[in-house]
Amino acid sequence: GLTGNKGWGPHWRDATPKPEYDAIIIGGGGHGLSTAYYLAKEHGMRNIAVLEKGYLGGGNVGRNTTIVRANYFLDGNSQFYSHSLKLWEGLEQDLNYNAMLSQRGVIMLGHSDGQMDNLARRGNSIRGQGDDAELLGKAEIRALLPYLNADNTRFPVYGGLLHRRGGTARHDAVAWGYARGASDRGVDLIQQCEVTGIDIENGRVTGVQTTRGAIKAKKVGIVTAGRSGQVAAMAGMRLPIESHVLQAFVSEGLKPCIDHVISFGMGHFYISQSDKGGLVFGGDLDFYASYAARGNLPMAEHVMEAGMTLIPMIGKARVLRSWGGIMDMTPDGSPIIDKTGTEGLFINCGWCYGGFKAVPGSGYSFAHLMATGQHHAPAANYRLDRFRTGVNLMDEEGTGAQHN
Ligand code: FAD
Repeated sequence: GLTGNKGWGPHWRDATPKPEYDAIIIGGGGHGLSTAYYLAKEHGMRNIAVLEKGYLGGGNVGRNTTIVRANYFLDGNSQFYSHSLKLWEGLEQDLNYNAMLSQRGVIMLGHSDGQMDNLARRGNSIRGQGDDAELLGKAEIRALLPYLNADNTRFPVYGGLLHRRGGTARHDAVAWGYARGASDRGVDLIQQCEVTGIDIENGRVTGVQTTRGAIKAKKVGIVTAGRSGQVAAMAGMRLPIESHVLQAFVSEGLKPCIDHVISFGMGHFYISQSDKGGLVFGGDLDFYASYAARGNLPMAEHVMEAGMTLIPMIGKARVLRSWGGIMDMTPDGSPIIDKTGTEGLFINCGWCYGGFKAVPGSGYSFAHLMATGQHHAPAANYRLDRFRTGVNLMDEEGTGAQHN
């Protein structure tokens, strides 16, 4: 540690697989780790393993742009993200871990009368749900964000919607905090253990095949984000999911200059500043199905152009790094937390580009479903069969990427 603390031990036990568990979680990302934590904490299940093919937190949970918010519009989404944000607000105390939650405010910009009407409607829905939203006019946006090129002729800024309780959190710390909390409660966290098959007998799951041998389990939860389609196929399922790459970028460290999370939907661009000083920003998907965890230059150029359009001053900063992650995109932009046609097999996926903010709520609701067999109320709309029946589709994809 920076203070010369040499006695710090590992934060969790690096367990070896036992022959059998009551429940197995496939995937050691944010959602898998939070599911294991809440299974242990809320439901007293201790004989659980999280199986991760790489290392814990090496997937999207460590690759995202860390935005946390509860400003969704649609019934179903709005209750779920409201619950998740409340869990975020108590998370550091609950885990006794500094997740660096920074409720600095998220601002969605509006660039026309029509968009301002839409933001007002969204704000009313958010407030109706019990969360916070403030509609700001152009003068108020100018006062808060004086560096914006608000008179840009292509996308003049008319105003915005401020969600003060939104902000950012340190993504790695969230994974590590949940991992430590789960491990302390007896959960086995098993890294370098890829699931290669799902064992099913008479319509019931009995365990999994892995690169470290077969492991039996009464319940199995698939929580593999961008790889959900591949893992579900091991149980004979074809998911309504496409995997796409989403890129993000970070600049060299600068003195504090951007105090909020700003989302520029018209330009497909969003930005915040990390506590280390880097400008963290991104845009939309690369728009072709892929399992690559890196993107291509045309989207990088598009994102830089949009950033310069909105905030010309950032053109002076050097970009340090860019990277990508695999997004599990559903047709309506909303996720899936459900049982499957196989008894004891559950699935949690389809978080598109917005699943970091969902980590606490998703783990809580998925643990509830796996432990009790009953859907947790805030996540009750996230059914898999909505894509077959067309009932209760929640088309809120527009809240993604640039609004991460
Ligand atoms: P992951 O961390 O990817 O976990 C899945 C794990 O499953 C991986 O560790 C993988 O190795 C493991 N796995 C896969 N297959 C197997 C197998 N066969 N056996 C064992 N393990 C397996 N969301 C927001 O809310 N706010 C944002 O600002 C935001 N920005 C983003 C920016 C970028 C560039 C990206 C890529 C994503 C962003 N997201 C954001 C989305 C968010 O990161 C994801 O929706 C979320 O992290 C996905 O859930 P997870 O953490 O469980 O995924």
